[in-house]
Amino acid sequence: MKCKFCSKEAYIKLHYPKTYLCIDHFIEYFERKVQRTIERYKLLRKDEKVLVAISGGKDSAVTAYVLNKLGYNIECLHINLGIGEYSKKSEEFAKRQCDLIGAPLHIVRIKEVLGYGIGEVKTRRPPCSYCGLTKRYIMNKFAYDNNFDAIATGHNLDDEASFLLNNLLHWNTEYLAKGGPLLPGENKFVKKVKPLYELTEREVVAYALAVGLDYIVEECPHARGATTLDMKAILNELEEKRPGTKFTFVRGYLKKRGLFEVEVEKKELRECKICGMPSSGEICAFCRFWGLKEPLTFKVDRDEDNLRGT
Ligand SMILES: [Zn+2]
Ligand SMILES: [Zn+2]
Repeated sequence: MKCKFCSKEAYIKLHYPKTYLCIDHFIEYFERKVQRTIERYKLLRKDEKVLVAISGGKDSAVTAYVLNKLGYNIECLHINLGIGEYSKKSEEFAKRQCDLIGAPLHIVRIKEVLGYGIGEVKTRRPPCSYCGLTKRYIMNKFAYDNNFDAIATGHNLDDEASFLLNNLLHWNTEYLAKGGPLLPGENKFVKKVKPLYELTEREVVAYALAVGLDYIVEECPHARGATTLDMKAILNELEEKRPGTKFTFVRGYLKKRGLFEVEVEKKELRECKICGMPSSGEICAFCRFWGLKEPLTFKVDRDEDNLRGT
């Protein structure tokens, strides 16, 4: 098949709307779509300082690559989770990705700052639950300590659709109120944005390949991803039969999100006694879980040119 816009051989067939594109026109399509997503949902301005959370995987790498190419002011943060070989590899990929992109990379290794890696803590909590808590906290604290205006993550259309489907099946209305491409900043919470919100996983993979971004394919050994994978498989099946299903599902959700918001009680937040970050209790969940006596701070010394390995 030939590209819809030129005489070159097609690189990809888009399902919705059904279009064949050559590699150059696909790259153009992808980047324009990210730009449109940013504008439609008012995610970022060009004068904002953006921290991209880089995991070593494809989605965050593509996010950083495209934001940089579109002229946004980005720096990257990789959180090394201390999960053996998997984390070592992830960090290596993150470094290579940032080299290719030409963006500064900060690295926080949780084993160095907290003493244990994910999975090494004696607790009844499953690793994925305190891993999520730890990543969210460090990402936000790092961005807050270093005056970033926004945190960008790599969530794509498939991630959002499977998140919604799973939470609808369980009627987790509180989670259903929290979807969407933009979580505005408030108090000491830095704004969070998802620039790949309207692009499918398949398109993200195709883009990574097209621009030569290498990424870790391996899943985290603790991954509780089974549910997510089931949801994604079902949605992909539906998408095959009815192209546009995911997009319509997610767009429709954004129109109806208000239905779920009314169910969420606004919790009074105070300041954590240890770290001063917003918390519902006296000590925040992060400081409590890790038994901290002193706050973790991530202030980067701007005089030092070499940001790597901090
Ligand atoms: Zn073309
Ligand atoms: Zn705290």
